Amino acid sequence: MLTGRVLLLNFSYEPLGTVGVARSMCLWIGGKVSVEEYDGENVLHSPSQVFRVPSVVRLRHYIHVHRKRRETTMKRARIYIRDRYTCQYCGEHRHAKDLTLDHIYPRAQGGESTPQNLVTACVKCNQRKGNRTPEQARMPLLTSQKLLQLGLDRVLLCHYAESKPEWRKYLFMDDFVEETQRIAA
Ligand SMILES: [Zn+2]
Repeated sequence: MLTGRVLLLNFSYEPLGTVGVARSMCLWIGGKVSVEEYDGENVLHSPSQVFRVPSVVRLRHYIHVHRKRRETTMKRARIYIRDRYTCQYCGEHRHAKDLTLDHIYPRAQGGESTPQNLVTACVKCNQRKGNRTPEQARMPLLTSQKLLQLGLDRVLLCHYAESKPEWRKYLFMDDFVEETQRIAA
């Protein structure tokens, strides 16, 4: 139970990421956050008190987030996770060591190294595509522009949240669910 994740919201209800259960309890007991949702029936016992385990907590004060720095941290790993370690051209699932990041709109044509322009690709597909756009190479993307534009943080949280229905309303997940179902169909 202490190994689970708790969704951390800014004071503005903007999702900031996740923290461990133990950390969320410390923040809560320390008065830094309020609990928005509890994790079903789970409780923790201290010698004198019983605490219900949080599932969603919200900061009591607004914090300014340095988005740029967070986006570049571990970008490669985070893009692989976003794309579920699957080549976005041939659909093959691979180990990280056999995957590459492909610039959808190629660098040679001015494409940027942003998460919105990078997808997971196997070595073979990356080489075959070369310095061409998916259209030029006739290699359509399995993911969609809409999903790529949602942003890394949001998509990663949505992956976590698949087993946490009580997180859904804070992540505005309906777009995400609709889009992944459309792609899978
Ligand atoms: Zn491939």
